[in-house]
Amino acid sequence: MNKFAQLDRKFVWHPFTQMRDWRKREPLVVASGEGAVLRDVRGREFLDANSSIWTNLHGHNHPKINAAISRQLEKIAHSSALGFANEPASLLAEKLVQAADSKLKIKNSKLEKVFFSDDGSTAMEVALKLAYEFTGRTRGKKSQPKFLSLDGAYHGDTVGAASLGHIDLFHKSFTGLLFKTDNVISPYCYRCPFNRAKPERADARNYRKCDWECVGKVEQKFSAQKRKGNPYAAFIFEPLVQGSAGMIPQPKTWLKQVSEIARGHDALLIADEVMTGFGRTGIAKAESGGRRAEILFACQKENVPPDFLCLAKGMTGGYLPMAATLTTQKIFDAFLGEYHEFKTFFHGHSFTGNQLGASAALASLEILQSKKSIRERENLEKILREELKSLWQLPNVGDVRQVGLIAGIELVKDWRIREPFDLRERAGIRVCEAMARRGALTRPIGNVIVLMPPYCTTAAQARKMVSALREAVREIFGAQKR
Ligand code: PMP
Repeated sequence: MNKFAQLDRKFVWHPFTQMRDWRKREPLVVASGEGAVLRDVRGREFLDANSSIWTNLHGHNHPKINAAISRQLEKIAHSSALGFANEPASLLAEKLVQAADSKLKIKNSKLEKVFFSDDGSTAMEVALKLAYEFTGRTRGKKSQPKFLSLDGAYHGDTVGAASLGHIDLFHKSFTGLLFKTDNVISPYCYRCPFNRAKPERADARNYRKCDWECVGKVEQKFSAQKRKGNPYAAFIFEPLVQGSAGMIPQPKTWLKQVSEIARGHDALLIADEVMTGFGRTGIAKAESGGRRAEILFACQKENVPPDFLCLAKGMTGGYLPMAATLTTQKIFDAFLGEYHEFKTFFHGHSFTGNQLGASAALASLEILQSKKSIRERENLEKILREELKSLWQLPNVGDVRQVGLIAGIELVKDWRIREPFDLRERAGIRVCEAMARRGALTRPIGNVIVLMPPYCTTAAQARKMVSALREAVREIFGAQKR
């Protein structure tokens, strides 16, 4: 076994990994990468079919991002944001505010302030703590602020972020450690508990027309909490598609409807765009003062201006751990005061505003906003949509979901009755292992296979990712057709 694999086995504890299984085989040791390709120490090449857990945007070893980091490295790698400003972080804050502009002129809704942190979890912690203190200050300390998030929610692994989560497999073992948050139904049209057709398929046979019962439940939840005399402080959601829940898309207008309900009940909106941000949900254009501007965030697609926008993963193009929580002037102002009033936001991390991360993020944004990148993403989305169609013929594929450059393929025991595999059968894991043997790397979410290619993925590479998945499903479950 390779030296690094041996060292890994001996010393490294991997995240979200049953280490007994890990130790059964030689780990793949990544040595380098180029575009959508990862190369291991033995010289084998693999397609990075989930963009290194949803982080990479423009491919590995991108010359522009490499150059930006190198240039910054010549000056300084890091100095503290506790006490000092720095060049790339201040520039990046301006660019993020510009990119997040909702193009809506709703009073107090403009995101104008940027609080930097390290990763998705800390970006969520920041939003949570700010919302908590803001509510305490504006509503009075008597009522304990309560938070509402979605069924199947995942917002990170630190204690605050995990408290917002509602996935038993991940969160249940920490119940005693986490604080209590409420949850409400999120749309999952493929397994609609009201047995409705997808709203856009009003003509579907065997299903009744969607009456937005799931939105009604959100309204009921907010009203019930209001009657208790302590309206929710904040509503937390992933816009357009819920990632770790299984890449579950929200039908058009759901986000708009529930955010208006939340607003109507005086709740702050915390949008977790850790996964969906920076163009992942596909190209969309918005009118901006007569000029057409490209939209980078999922919230903008439904014209929903959040009070907090949490960004991480793709922010640096997937190069370095850096995150940001954007918020409004109104929230910011609530923390202003004389020194001795101690209204300061007492929160921060050693690497807040790190220069290397900020330089990578600036370069990534520039690439993202270039015409070339927009064209490539448009094409890749189309190619994926076309290729994914071939999966419907497989009897163990129950649902094929795509939102922009995110795809989730749900494996089932029987497509006719949508019978799920028991998690213990490791259906998703086995399919991903078979895909790796065909040169495409991804990680399942339970029974859902995720395809989330880097934006630089070529048509041939996208086809190879989908065909690796198709062949893997055939290998594991048999080659019959529907
Ligand atoms: N929010 C969402 C929507 C995520 O998908 C993730 C990570 N998968 C997180 C938050 C946490 O991010 P991180 O792993 O960078 O802490």
